Amino acid sequence: MRRSMIRIPELVRIKAGALDRIGLYLDRPGFRRTALMFSEGLPSDLPARLRASLSAHSIEAAASHEITGASFEEASALLGGLPPRCQAIVGLGGGKALDTAKYVATLANLPYFAAPTSLSNDGFCSPQSSLTLDGRRKSLAAHLPWAVVIDTEVCQAAPAALWASGVGDLVAKLTATVDWKLSFHATGEIVDDFATLLSDATVFQFAGRPERDSEGIRLLGTALMLNGIAMEMAGSSRPASGAEHLISHALDACSARPRLHGLQVGCAAYLTAHLQGGDHADTIGRILDGAGFWDLLRRDPFILSEWREAFALAPSIKPGYYTVLSTRDAWPESEERIATDPRLRQCFAG
Ligand SMILES: [Zn+2]
Repeated sequence: MRRSMIRIPELVRIKAGALDRIGLYLDRPGFRRTALMFSEGLPSDLPARLRASLSAHSIEAAASHEITGASFEEASALLGGLPPRCQAIVGLGGGKALDTAKYVATLANLPYFAAPTSLSNDGFCSPQSSLTLDGRRKSLAAHLPWAVVIDTEVCQAAPAALWASGVGDLVAKLTATVDWKLSFHATGEIVDDFATLLSDATVFQFAGRPERDSEGIRLLGTALMLNGIAMEMAGSSRPASGAEHLISHALDACSARPRLHGLQVGCAAYLTAHLQGGDHADTIGRILDGAGFWDLLRRDPFILSEWREAFALAPSIKPGYYTVLSTRDAWPESEERIATDPRLRQCFAG
């Protein structure tokens, strides 16, 4: 049933210089009139390159917006202000701009071109937009992009912390799929076998060559995109999100200064893997070693008391969402691990 309803991207380009070819990618299927949405503070050459590419193919940018927040209210205003006869929406930048552009395109039922300038999480091609509504963060259903355009050179030039964050969001797929299976055994929740296999496979595909170079960026971009497709297939975020995401959402709610999504999620996935029996813990640890993940945490350590609070809050973040955290109070074991595991040394303060 739901298989007949899934929408996956029609066009995927992951290569150096892809940004300069977006005009061509719009031109071929006949999209002549577009609305552009950019991240605030993007290096100015990136929007300029997109515009040059559009004009080279005589494609009109009928509207252009800099996205300042990532709110339902802003998305609604953009929807109301879309130019007449607009045929496609192009989002360029980071999570906030892309989540907003994706949601506007969903509401307007227009093809959406996602052009991430970094790969810090799997949101650029996921079936949700994370937007605030009345100041509270919500995950709102959205269509997958019509096109995913990842310029590997542009993403490689993004800060190393964003790369580490993307790798952190990717390794979470191992713990997420274990939690899904735990839920099947405890609650009878149906597991989508193919979505699970796809999600699992993306991690191992990347793990074979986890370098921060152009080929590594291509592999990470592909893996994160396929995670989004696994979510679309499953009709839920189960293939990509388990206890580690609940802990990260709880940290967003209780931290004085929440860190990048994938940094929180990756560290929480490592702890979660141990709680789940440890099968994936070393795999996750090694992939994160290669990404320079722990060194980044040591430069800006997490606050231990905030993690204690987050562990207490996490099981109630999504009512009815069964994970390893539903089985017991997981904090004492995790606190012990934080104190003794060599990888986690100096990653927590306070
Ligand atoms: Zn995530």
